[in-house]
Amino acid sequence: MIRRLLDYIYPALCELCNSGLQDGKTLCSPCLDKLPRIHQPFCRKCGEPFEGNLNEEFDCPNCHGITHDFKFAIAPLKGEGTAFHLVHALKYQRRFYLARDLATILCESWQQDPRLQDLPREEIIVIPVPLHWRRKQWRQGNQAHELAREFSAQTGLPLQQSLRRIRATSTQTKLTRKQRLTNLRGAFRIRKSALAGLQGSTILLVDDVFTTGATAHECTKVLLKDGGVNQVIILTLVRG
Ligand SMILES: [Zn+2]
Ligand SMILES: [Zn+2]
Repeated sequence: MIRRLLDYIYPALCELCNSGLQDGKTLCSPCLDKLPRIHQPFCRKCGEPFEGNLNEEFDCPNCHGITHDFKFAIAPLKGEGTAFHLVHALKYQRRFYLARDLATILCESWQQDPRLQDLPREEIIVIPVPLHWRRKQWRQGNQAHELAREFSAQTGLPLQQSLRRIRATSTQTKLTRKQRLTNLRGAFRIRKSALAGLQGSTILLVDDVFTTGATAHECTKVLLKDGGVNQVIILTLVRG
């Protein structure tokens, strides 16, 4: 009711094409449909899409010689154009209202990938990649938490903020994977209050972008070692 009233007073505009919207939507259906989806073939470990006719077990150049402690990473969108525009708006322009429509795209992966559907549902916990409190304060929120919360609301899977970032790290955008891993060492901890509840669980770790997988790997290490979780799967909006 309030949403209808707000639509009437302030008609919402699509973030991508500026067409008028209703019912609390932030992206119109044609723009949602046009977002650059990742289809097969993609790497079964890191989610990177490839061109051509490859069978499922091809040797991914990104994963060659690399240990990822997580089971696998999956992302519904390619890191290009409109997908990056939306992540940027969510992350740096505080347009957290976009998270609801973007989470519907995360739900596409959840519903369509048989590896996710085969997981023991009662053991799943959705956890966002945390920001250091100082960066969170600066951005006035954590984009990964906004996505994870909406994803949890739409799937009914439980959400926990079990991880903490105890060290602020400098920006990682220009670093190699190796440099990122060094930069991130010891940056994450499990919250004391969350420790007991994680034992034996399956974690869906949610973030906005997967680039080298260094953050995902470091969070996974902590969850496996200190939290005693069974396995960690990475779900990001975009494969950068
Ligand atoms: Zn649109
Ligand atoms: Zn790969």
